[in-house]
Amino acid sequence: MSRYRTILIFGAPGSGKGTQGKILGKIPGFYHCACGDVFRSLDAASELGAAFLEYSSKGQLVPDEITVRLWHESIRKTVESGKFNPKRDDLILDGIPRNVAQAILMEELIEVRGIFHLSCPDRDKLVARLKKRALRDNRLDDTNEEVIRSRLATYDAESKPILHYYSGVMRHDIDASMTPLEVLYEIMKGLLQEKAISRAS
Ligand code: ADP
Repeated sequence: MSRYRTILIFGAPGSGKGTQGKILGKIPGFYHCACGDVFRSLDAASELGAAFLEYSSKGQLVPDEITVRLWHESIRKTVESGKFNPKRDDLILDGIPRNVAQAILMEELIEVRGIFHLSCPDRDKLVARLKKRALRDNRLDDTNEEVIRSRLATYDAESKPILHYYSGVMRHDIDASMTPLEVLYEIMKGLLQEKAISRAS
């Protein structure tokens, strides 16, 4: 099996990965998959659904093997149903891999072509965005500031090392404190640059 051509949207909770991923996924030739959405679609009464709620309510990551297996099953279903055609579409991944162990487990499944790093050193700004999202999207894990801070700490300790793991991949650092439209514009410029490079090579 050939690996899925993949673009990673990477950044802390609240940095806007989902907002951008959803927009990009509407463009023909791209398919967006957010790992958090895969988890949230589980029945909360199922074993996996209950495990997800247990970890996410503490701001922790779901264990790696379960996460990658669940994600892989979900993406295979989208291929079978024809929603995602890996021959035609680039996969826009948001929220996975979320640590180096997951990146290693996914090595034989995805070929990472580029990384868009939505960077926002101002943590208070992220916290404010997440609190707003809690009200809008009814996200339980966003309502409590302690859980939010714990997710940000998990991001710094476990997710950020991924940038080093993929140091050979073209990376675009984007200021995530800009407006969604400005961030989108920067991502589009980066994507066009990558397409130009892959056409030339
Ligand atoms: P956010 O980007 O705000 O953290 P997500 O919707 O991406 O929101 O994820 C919500 C929760 O789902 C995480 O806090 C975590 O518990 C779980 N989760 C999502 N993706 C992963 C992953 N790749 N590995 C482990 N846990 C995950």
